[in-house]
Parts: sequence; structure tokens; C-alpha cells
Amino acid sequence: MRIVVQKFGGTSVNTRELREKAALKVKETLEEGFSPVVVVSAMGRDGAPYATDTLISLARNEWENLDPRNLDLLLSCGEVISSVVMSQTLRKNGVNSVVLTGWQAGIITDSNFGNASIIRVEPDRIRKYLEEGWVVVTAGFQGVTEEGEVTTLGRGGSDTTAVILGVALEAEYVDIFTDVEGVMTADPRIVPEAQILRGLTYTEAAEIIQQGAKVIHHKAMNIAREYRVPLRVRSLNDSEKGTLICDIKTLTQGGIRMFSQDRPVYSIAYRKDLAQIRVDLPAVKGKDLNIFQPLAQAGISVDLVNLFPESVAFVVEEGLGETVKGILEDNGFQARLLKPCAKVSLVGSGMAGRPGVMAQVVEALRKAGINILQTSDSHITISCLIQAGDMEKAIQILHQKFQLEEVC
Ligand code: ADP
Ligand code: ASP
Ligand code: MG
Repeated sequence: MRIVVQKFGGTSVNTRELREKAALKVKETLEEGFSPVVVVSAMGRDGAPYATDTLISLARNEWENLDPRNLDLLLSCGEVISSVVMSQTLRKNGVNSVVLTGWQAGIITDSNFGNASIIRVEPDRIRKYLEEGWVVVTAGFQGVTEEGEVTTLGRGGSDTTAVILGVALEAEYVDIFTDVEGVMTADPRIVPEAQILRGLTYTEAAEIIQQGAKVIHHKAMNIAREYRVPLRVRSLNDSEKGTLICDIKTLTQGGIRMFSQDRPVYSIAYRKDLAQIRVDLPAVKGKDLNIFQPLAQAGISVDLVNLFPESVAFVVEEGLGETVKGILEDNGFQARLLKPCAKVSLVGSGMAGRPGVMAQVVEALRKAGINILQTSDSHITISCLIQAGDMEKAIQILHQKFQLEEVC
């Protein structure tokens, strides 16, 4: 049996017209000789009647102290509704389809309500249906504990359902259908001329996602990379199949162009809602200057750390800025807080060992009057922290500077 898992995101199942298109994609896959397993997210975004955000608002507006177990049960309904609606659409199109909730599909998780981790998958029931010729529609974003409690996997978690089923069922591909045509050179909402990256290695895609491109959930991307499950990021309107993420050998054998050969940078990602903290370290003998200790004790994770003998700069989530400042002051340090900030990251495996990339970044941002607050780099990434108000302009300027509109 050749299995393909096909995940349709919230915006791909939001209207009847879109669900019809999704059903056609499933039919095409059947006609290509595959057994499809469909995974769906709740229909639509905030405001749509059964969207996850709408269910969250219902809960928050109604009750002050919300039992996380009840909230998960409530949120799981969004995907259950969506999977029934999708299954009926398939049946209307002549496709034999059966619905399984996350718990019926054997997605077993820990009991961390709201952000549960998958412990294992028991795929026998799905397999049995596939062998009988059914197309299985599974509700994404949900699972069940060993004790039978319903859980959800964290926002964006339907991608994780799809990839983990891909692993458990040894699928040939996991298709992530979304509202863009693939992984692109930048978020097309910010750079309209952004181009599709047709082929990426697991490492390249994981870095773009890690740096903030939310087109695939980072947990799902990491599982795909670890288990080597090929992903295709696609749109309902694609004629070619979006972005293929797989190993380098398959990409080169398939004749798919590797951007790293001729480009230092091929994607720009961002993270917003950040706060920068700067601390001057007093020259006091014997004083413990490890300012990260109290933060670690408070369970706060830090990013973009620049450590000098006399000072430290780092970044936390914006919502934690005041807390971090307070903790440091309680420990005798003067902390300066700057927010809101954003981190813009240029990713490209071709930048490794190539001189001048940082110089180009600094030149482009300076020329546009954008102040760089901090930088960091790895062998395939350069990140700049800037003020949040400059973020869109910075992304657009860097996209132009590296001529990413010419990627094809
Ligand atoms: P879904 O509801 O289908 O899971 P998401 O909203 O989670 O969709 O992810 C798709 C969104 O990711 C796009 O609408 C786009 O704005 C955003 N995005 C951010 N960076 C990129 C990128 N580099 N390429 C494509 N999309 C991106
Ligand atoms: N519906 C859930 C969310 O909005 C899961 C998902 O869309 O992947 O986060
Ligand atoms: Mg998503």
C-alpha cells in the first residue's frame, strides 16, 4: 500500500468551495494509485463559528477559571466538526470516506493539556480501514492520554498529527495544504513578490521554520527531519506540487534545483513580539555575575545572547520583558528593557564560508535608516534584532538586496 497523508489547514477547509477543491486533491491522489489519509484543522480563523480561536474566545469570555481538561475537550470539537464536514464532502464526490477522531486514530499523548506531546501512535485502526479501501479523515491537533483523557497538541498542532501519522504509516509523502503555494523566499503577506522554493533539504527547511516561518509547525518539521518523511507544502490551486522537503540525494536525483549552489541566502524569516534586555555588569569582586541563573530557575528561556566582560544583551518573549527586568533587579542588576522588537533572519546554506554576506546585510539596513540592536549567526543563518516597527521594511529591503524575487 502506498500511503500519502494530506493535511488541510484551517483556511483550506473554510468554505464549501475550498472543501470541494480539497476533495479534488484527494481524488487526484487516489487516481495516482495512493491510499490517502486526510488530516484536517478546525475550519477558518478567528470569527469563523468553529475555529479554534472562536472556541478559545468562548471559553475565555464565559469563565474565569478554566479547567485545562475542559478547555482541551472544547477545542478538540473544532477539528471533529471539520473532519465530519470534510468526510461528507468526499462522500458527495464519490469517495468512500470514514472519520476518526484523534483518539480513535490512536494518537496517544502525555497529559500536558493544551500542549500535549505525542508518546506513540497505534495506527492499526487506520490501516484496517485503508486496507478495506476507505479514505480515512482524521481530526488533527488532538490525542488521548493513557487514561483516556482528550488532549490538544498546541496551536498549529494539526501539522504534527499529519507528520506523526506519516511516520507511523510509513507514508511516501506528507502533504501540507495551506493558503500559500509552498515554503517561500519570505512571508508573501510581507513581500508580495516572494517566490516558491521548489526543493529544500530537511536541514534547510528546519532552519527556515526554526527562525520563525510558521508555514509548518516547528515540532512537525523536527519529526519529519528526524524520521526522514518527505513533506510537500502545497496550495489547493497548485498544478506543480509546491515545495518538496526531503534529503539531498532525492532532490538532486529528481533534478530539483538546489539554491545553495548559486545563492548565499534564499529565505528570510522573522519572529516578532520580542523584548531586548541589556544589563551592565558591575565590576564587583566576588559577586556572582551569572545573571542567567535566576532566569533559568524561573523557567525563562533566552535567545540571541551576546555576552561581553562588562555587559550582556539578550532577548525574551515580549510578554516576559517586565518579569525578567524585575527578576534581575531583585538580584541587584540594573536592566534596560526595549520592546517591541523583532528578529529578522536570513537563511541560506550557501552562506557558509562565503565572505561579505554580513557586510551586505549591515549596508542595506543602515542605508534604510534601520538600527541593528544585536546580531547573531550560525553557519547557515544571520539574525538581526531590530525595533518591531522596522520589521516589514527590513524584510522587504533584504529580499531586494539578495534579489530573492529572481529565485526560480
Ligand atoms: P494553516 O492554517 O494552513 O496551518 P498557517 O497560517 O499556520 O496555515 O501557515 C501559513 C502561513 O505561513 C501563510 O499564510 C504565510 O503568511 C506564513 N508564512 C510565514 N513565512 C512563510 C514562508 N517563508 N513561506 C510561506 N508562508 C509563510
Ligand atoms: N486548529 C488548531 C489551531 O488553530 C490546530 C491547527 O490549526 O493546526 O491552532
Ligand atoms: Mg499552521
